[in-house]
Amino acid sequence: MIKVAKFGGSSVADAAQFKRVKSIVEENPDRRVVVISAAGKRSSDDHKMTDLLYLCHAHLLYGVSCEPIFRDIEKRFCDIRDQLGLDFNIEAEFDTLWEKMDKDMSVDYLVSRGEYFTSRLMAAYLGFHFLDASDCIFSDYNGSFDMEKIESAIKEALRKYKKVVIPGFYSSLPSGKIKLMSRGGSDITGALAAAACNADVYENWTDVSGILMADPRIVKDPKPIEKITYAELRELASMGASVLHEESILPVKEKGIPLNIRNTNNPSHPGTMIVESIDKEETQEERFLLTGIAGRKNFEILSLRKHNLDNNSDLRKVLEILENHKIAIEHISLGLDSFSIVFAKSSVESIIYDVISEIQKSLKPDSIDIQENMALVAAVGRKMTFRPGISGLLFNALGKAGVNIRTIAQGSDELSIVVGVDNSQFDTTVRVLYEGFAG
Ligand code: ASP
Repeated sequence: MIKVAKFGGSSVADAAQFKRVKSIVEENPDRRVVVISAAGKRSSDDHKMTDLLYLCHAHLLYGVSCEPIFRDIEKRFCDIRDQLGLDFNIEAEFDTLWEKMDKDMSVDYLVSRGEYFTSRLMAAYLGFHFLDASDCIFSDYNGSFDMEKIESAIKEALRKYKKVVIPGFYSSLPSGKIKLMSRGGSDITGALAAAACNADVYENWTDVSGILMADPRIVKDPKPIEKITYAELRELASMGASVLHEESILPVKEKGIPLNIRNTNNPSHPGTMIVESIDKEETQEERFLLTGIAGRKNFEILSLRKHNLDNNSDLRKVLEILENHKIAIEHISLGLDSFSIVFAKSSVESIIYDVISEIQKSLKPDSIDIQENMALVAAVGRKMTFRPGISGLLFNALGKAGVNIRTIAQGSDELSIVVGVDNSQFDTTVRVLYEGFAG
């Protein structure tokens, strides 16, 4: 059995967190692949190592000395080393790095040192082999990964060393140079490593006990989700619930590897298990209709009315105009002589009048109307699928609470129902759905 355990920045922020990681890893000998982020914030007013390294690079570009920040970063690593009693000459490595610091230093290389040094310290502390991402995570220039090469490098290292620590967030290009992933990319490294060694589970250790059923800023003490399918998670994530890097899902989903979100600061909590499908509902969640609720504010609805509307060609013309302006569509609903399209306010803010005038010229509609300040709330739940009467229950509860639903959208897989409400009724909508069907 192999478990891949990825630890995020807050899980490795200082020596005390390193100790927690060690006890988690040692608690189960199957945790043979450990993926590490750069040390994160130790308190809310602290800085992430990655941010400090980006700041160093900005100083280099503008020809301003970054030595104080650079030495601060070095000190953080030295403090962890000293508090854990490790034997590792960080000073020598930082001096070599300092010699190379000029405006031609690659930002990718410099910033990747956060993950690199945190992982070297962790490998020394755990007594695991340090497997540099530059020797096992391969990508091309546009960021796609070479899964075959990754698989053979990681399998080979596991045969040789049995247990390895891999730094997250960067890969090696065909030229051998280092390429950073997008922010939060260590999640992707963990997923690639899990896929490469056909792990039994990919554990993503963070500072929350799994994905919550609703936003805790709106609902008091929402419960964590015990089990969720990849498809449900995608619905929630698209509506703003963010826990994992989006690109970290595919490598494990494709191989049917379950993904377990766990809390380093509360390791006995089972967290959230994300799986491809759930045949039998055996948990307490069974009595909840919804798996989770997520939503976002500030959308607009463009409603168009035209006598004898040609569904195909008129809609196509409007979609073309929106595409030319790079406006991402959230929802469309089509009537006999009308349709309405929902998009984020931020994507149309400065161009909405141009868009309307182009539509007017092209379609000559009877009317075009824009409704602003709309929020979308998604009620997501696999148990809604093919069960009659569900939308009636939800709408009834919302109606009783005085929520006026302005649009409704349901995917054909019936995994989610999305309602559009006024921004001012956003919180009430989330609360009513949570209290009635999830909490
Ligand atoms: N350290 C990087 C970041 O702060 C990558 C990661 O933590 O996953 O985004």
